Amino acid sequence: MGKLGECSMKIGLEIHIYPRTESKLFCACSADYVGKKGNENICEICTGQPGAKPLKLNQTVIEQAIELSHFLHGTIVEKKQIKILRKHYFYPDLPNNFQRTTEPLIIQGKFRGVNIREIHAEEDAGDYDFEHGTVNFNRSGVPLLELVTEPELYSGPETIEFLKEFKYLLDYLEFCRTGAEFKIDVNVSIGAERGEIKNLNSIHDIEIAIELEEQRQKMLMAQGKKIVRKTLHLDRKARCLFESRDKEDTADYRHLPDPDIASFAIDSKMIEAIIQQAPIHPLNYRNQLIQKGLAFSTAQTICSKKNLVKSFSKISSRCDFLTAGLFFQKHVKHELEYRNISQSIEFLNEFLIEIIQKMKEKQIEEMQAVEWLRNKLDGKTEMKISENNLETAIKQILEKNEQAVLDYRNGKQNSLNFLIGKIKQENKNQKVEIIQEILLAKIKN
Ligand SMILES: [Zn+2]
Repeated sequence: MGKLGECSMKIGLEIHIYPRTESKLFCACSADYVGKKGNENICEICTGQPGAKPLKLNQTVIEQAIELSHFLHGTIVEKKQIKILRKHYFYPDLPNNFQRTTEPLIIQGKFRGVNIREIHAEEDAGDYDFEHGTVNFNRSGVPLLELVTEPELYSGPETIEFLKEFKYLLDYLEFCRTGAEFKIDVNVSIGAERGEIKNLNSIHDIEIAIELEEQRQKMLMAQGKKIVRKTLHLDRKARCLFESRDKEDTADYRHLPDPDIASFAIDSKMIEAIIQQAPIHPLNYRNQLIQKGLAFSTAQTICSKKNLVKSFSKISSRCDFLTAGLFFQKHVKHELEYRNISQSIEFLNEFLIEIIQKMKEKQIEEMQAVEWLRNKLDGKTEMKISENNLETAIKQILEKNEQAVLDYRNGKQNSLNFLIGKIKQENKNQKVEIIQEILLAKIKN
């Protein structure tokens, strides 16, 4: 369906991202709520007890918003007084009866052609158990960054593609809390009004929700009924949307500045310091790699990790580009993941250049290079590549076995096998085909 069609679908997203922080947004409790015992990480602030005053806003969250903005080409709101607002609603998961949220930190970003209206920080609510009527406040006060897009996605598949790429960026930046990435509200409209599906936390669920909402609105239109604004939830098991009469329907947020907490500033010095440290943009770099001849899957693998990109960008002009790409895709990423290495691997750069060149020149085969890489990462005695230079080894064996060389030149085929055997004995990791190729080139001269 085209963008200008009478029934064109428009989709907008509100993406709540859980940034990786030690503590909650306004208190010192651990923000690590996933898999924890009920009400383990709580205090008087994040449970809204009378008289409890919030601490200063967690600075890490602001720094993370600035970093993210850099990758979304956003405009960072440079202001001396950014206010913290109270957004009021009543629900058992919200002990204060209001949620604290900042004014927008970022405006006018763009990702994959879709405009991003704003990003702000806010605190999450607790976890209300309908069945038992209990609340677990471990999540209460955990920081969220909410990113709001303009309704500029025009189909389910386009939205999914957008989210996959966005998740790829977040994973690359190691941005999100382990075990909690994002939860998303999706607005779908075909006509004048929209349906909003709340709290979707997997790309698969979003795909289903969009499909169901499109069907629902189309059916109403076909019946000549009016579409009214609705807040919906996805029932995964029954594969249907249900209407909720919960906080979002009845909320009158009455945003008011929080008198308990001071405003904060974002200045250019802070922005500069963060942007200077920012890694290479993975999507731009992926395009560059593809333009230079790497397959999409190879470029995609390299650009999935900061340390791979950093190392590859330094070495790939100093050794064979395509061999390096494949070696990173097939082995470097895997060996690092196996050892849980996510920090810089620049100490490997010179070593990688050397083994990749040796591979390209067929002096060593791939498995030999992998073995050396493993040894290097495990701190085992390193192979000295120069001593293992296959050509030198072959030359020495030929010098010691002049008679066999003469016999081969006189037509005795067995002499070749004898020589290959001798070479293989001392170079067990080398392929017979490679040995034979180099050997023939030498004895035919
Ligand atoms: Zn707390």
